[in-house]
Amino acid sequence: MLESETLEKAHALLERAPVFDGHNDLPYVIRADKKARGDVIAYDLTRVHEDGDTDIPRLRQGKVGAQFWAAFQPTNAPHPARTALELIDTILRIEAAHPDVFLPAREAADYERAHLAGKIASFIVVEGGVGLENALAPLRVWYAAGARMLIPCHNEALDWVDSATDAPRNGGFNAFGRAVIGECNRLGMIVDGAHVSHDGIRRLLDVSEAPILLSHSNAYSLCDHPRNAPDDVLKRLKGNGGVVMGTFVPGFSSQPVRDWMKRRRDAWGKMPASVDPAALHADAAAEKQHAPRATLSDVVDHIVYLVETAGLDHVGVGSDFFGGAQPLGLENVGCFPALFAELFRRGFSERDLEKISARNVLRVMRKVEEVGAELRLAREPAVGRIEDYPGA
Ligand SMILES: [Zn+2]
Repeated sequence: MLESETLEKAHALLERAPVFDGHNDLPYVIRADKKARGDVIAYDLTRVHEDGDTDIPRLRQGKVGAQFWAAFQPTNAPHPARTALELIDTILRIEAAHPDVFLPAREAADYERAHLAGKIASFIVVEGGVGLENALAPLRVWYAAGARMLIPCHNEALDWVDSATDAPRNGGFNAFGRAVIGECNRLGMIVDGAHVSHDGIRRLLDVSEAPILLSHSNAYSLCDHPRNAPDDVLKRLKGNGGVVMGTFVPGFSSQPVRDWMKRRRDAWGKMPASVDPAALHADAAAEKQHAPRATLSDVVDHIVYLVETAGLDHVGVGSDFFGGAQPLGLENVGCFPALFAELFRRGFSERDLEKISARNVLRVMRKVEEVGAELRLAREPAVGRIEDYPGA
């Protein structure tokens, strides 16, 4: 098939089933922006941000139909509970500032509602259980504020959950961690194992009463970054009903990029303290010119592998646009049609790609809602703090 033909097919596909993207860090980008400093209006999403990756014109161009916006905070930032609320508020302000573009989405059915209205369904995920400050009450307040997914940790372990990129100390999830999972299940909030350790995801699959998501993770067998999912986890998604959403993060998509980053980090770690920092930066810049780049094709390799291993009904797309470097061909949210054009070239059918674009993640969300409704009839809210959970 000609390139223009597959691109046309991709556009037609995304008209019918616009992308439900699993992860975008725009709220944090707005917060960290030196000029806007968290002011959504000042940031101005209506213009193209050449130096960024996400804005309204390119969300439209990319045919994004639904987005999980991340209320992300670094684990060690001060005032975690306050920061989580500030980030949720940023997302609510994005919705309020552009009611003609974003539909505040709180259930799976809002995807279709948004589609019919020509809008983008705006979903909230809290990326960082650190904001719970070891208590269950904030989780319910986040839900009341509109959050429909929780990423228990980021790059560091917490007192109750192990991170993929930190030393384990909780057996994946300890007693309080399991109470958090149970309360998410009861509320009808998706638990997202993206940043959780491999053993933690296995534990999550053991105890979760509802399907899970891995909202921005690739295949560990193709790129051995610990943030990527190993085959045994991928194979268990079928029994759980969950979905892994292939991501664009260069260091998770390309083994040469991963190796290069690892080498550079190791080299920097070994530098003596007396080295002139200016010389170091010059070295790093020169080295960067020779750095390998991840490509759209690398990302598609992962999606193909995820489908082969987890099954066609268990794969989606979770870009993780965060304002930083992205693979060649996937530089911004306008690039989703190019991704789907390449998937057509790899032999997927329109039906297959509707599933990967949105149908699979919508099925997870509907099931999580259903399980939550049943559990709310069967049990009371879990209360308390970490000290109330012996063994935690
Ligand atoms: Zn993340």
